[in-house]
Amino acid sequence: MIIVLLGPPGAGKGTQADRLSGRLGIPKIATGDVLRAAVRDGTKRGLEAKSYMDRGDLVPDSVILGILQDVMTSPATKKGAILDGAVRTVPQAEGLEATLGEIGEKVDRVLLFDVDDDELVKRLSTRTVCEGCQTPYMGREPGTRCEKCGGRLVRRKDDEPEAVRNRLEVYRRQTEPVIDWYRGHNQKVLKIDADAPVDEVTSRALEALGKTGKREAGSGKRGGGK
Ligand code: ADP
Ligand code: AMP
Repeated sequence: MIIVLLGPPGAGKGTQADRLSGRLGIPKIATGDVLRAAVRDGTKRGLEAKSYMDRGDLVPDSVILGILQDVMTSPATKKGAILDGAVRTVPQAEGLEATLGEIGEKVDRVLLFDVDDDELVKRLSTRTVCEGCQTPYMGREPGTRCEKCGGRLVRRKDDEPEAVRNRLEVYRRQTEPVIDWYRGHNQKVLKIDADAPVDEVTSRALEALGKTGKREAGSGKRGGGK
């Protein structure tokens, strides 16, 4: 099963992608995580992306489409994937559809996480993330350690107020049209009120996906189906 997560920065996509990945037994693919790793490793892709990311702008579609092509044709995603923040422009939605079409796949579900701007700003102003595995935390100080991998928790440069303001604007201008693009392509967009405790949002997401909450593998057509 290929699930696209949409929603503004801070809506909880990363938090819920980790949980849904555990529950559904399919990997989370977060382009933000892939790009931050590339920046850290000083690769060509990372060097190209860094200045866009620091400002809170979107990196060019060509970079994202390269990542989506690599990950969606890799054995790691043969049972499906939870795409977290990986489709942020209409050309990316079109490119993903073309890539998936070439391997006989398609997006199965689109989940839209809905949260008011005031709550988003509050969440991002206190978010720390593990510099190793990228797990996001709330209410944990920079310098403390990640519960999952022991990595150091840091503040993201793009969670500073100016970059957050820009990211919200970029979301409205460039990513919101993706919602209508999916609707126009016969894809029901499942909107979830994500201003609720984390466990409750997970339940809502699983319910919207028609899942009981049991661990289930995806219905991949590349040899990975149940
Ligand atoms: P996104 O990936 O959409 O940018 P994150 O999953 O990183 O969002 O969440 C942003 C911040 O909000 C993190 O600090 C996270 O711990 C916190 N958070 C996530 N879900 C909730 C929730 N339901 N209620 C309160 N805070 C949340
Ligand atoms: P995220 O971790 O999802 O908040 O993404 C952090 C930053 O990475 C974004 O503000 C963008 O600069 C960049 N990024 C991540 N995914 C994409 C994407 N699909 N398209 C363009 N830029 C992206």
